[in-house]
Amino acid sequence: MTQPLLPTSIVGSLPKPSWLAQPETLWSPWSLQGDALVEGKRDALRISTHEQSNRGIDIVSDGEQTRQHFVTTFIEHLSGVDFEKRKTVRIRDRYDASVPTVVSAVSREKPVFVDDAKFLRQQTDQPIKWALPGPMTMIDTLYDDHYKSREKLAWEFATVLNQEAKDLEAAGVDIIQFDEPAFNVFFEEMKDWGVAALERAAEGLRAETAVHICYGYGIKANNDWKTTLGSEWRQYEESFPLLQRSSLDIVSLECHNSHVPMDLIELIRGKKVMLGAIDVANETIETPEEVAATLRKALNFADADKLIPSTNCGMAPFARDVSLAKMSALSAGTAIVREELVSSGV
Ligand SMILES: [Zn+2]
Repeated sequence: MTQPLLPTSIVGSLPKPSWLAQPETLWSPWSLQGDALVEGKRDALRISTHEQSNRGIDIVSDGEQTRQHFVTTFIEHLSGVDFEKRKTVRIRDRYDASVPTVVSAVSREKPVFVDDAKFLRQQTDQPIKWALPGPMTMIDTLYDDHYKSREKLAWEFATVLNQEAKDLEAAGVDIIQFDEPAFNVFFEEMKDWGVAALERAAEGLRAETAVHICYGYGIKANNDWKTTLGSEWRQYEESFPLLQRSSLDIVSLECHNSHVPMDLIELIRGKKVMLGAIDVANETIETPEEVAATLRKALNFADADKLIPSTNCGMAPFARDVSLAKMSALSAGTAIVREELVSSGV
């Protein structure tokens, strides 16, 4: 599939319509039930696909319209996890949450998102991207009463993720993205086995593979954590050298309005860079010129044929008109830089 120079993309979630789930709420419960919920999710997926296309997004995602939570919805479909047996654990060393318990061997008895991905494939001829949680982020959202080893459980999840990823690829998904915000927190585990588990999840795929590492949604627990990180956020320095040598094709990172030093991108030279040029923690709409300025800076450290302008993270907590305007800003800013690159002969 031919792609324009600097193909635009969003990282993940988009706001859901108010008839489907409570708006401007992260992980909000569904407003419909039964067949109406099934139909409502499909309609939302249809709308979000066309909205992305209308706003100039080149690589289309599902906007997480059919799932409530980027990790839990996947885990709900696996056996071995008891959602009635809950424990409070500390998520990403930052906030407490009540989570389900791993009670026996985990496995995927049937595909989880594959029907939704087939439906998305029918809605557009553009390249499509589907996000799955990464193994390390999955284990961090559970209480493990069976394996008693984070590493062992991560490996089991990597196997399950690889099965799902292969089915998504067969359904026509062009890019499979693994969300691993845990890579910005658990550096030792990431080095010991986290990147290896991620590569296991991505093993043998013909589809392109991406890893998304961010500083999270603009929720209070994340914003408080960010104030402790100092004036320069150098967490990517831990993961990027390993990812540069990994089998993953694309690295998705947060950039605009973050305190991430732009030159860290140099550490993944050779990989495609999905660069966050849209802030998801602030509803002010970026101007096209601001987006263009971020992309120009990134081009000092990334090759033009490997840059994918994107958002910093998901946009689910925004009002719908904010997320639409931000997608338009991303496309308009990208168009400016594309033009500059073409006229300079790149
Ligand atoms: Zn994110």
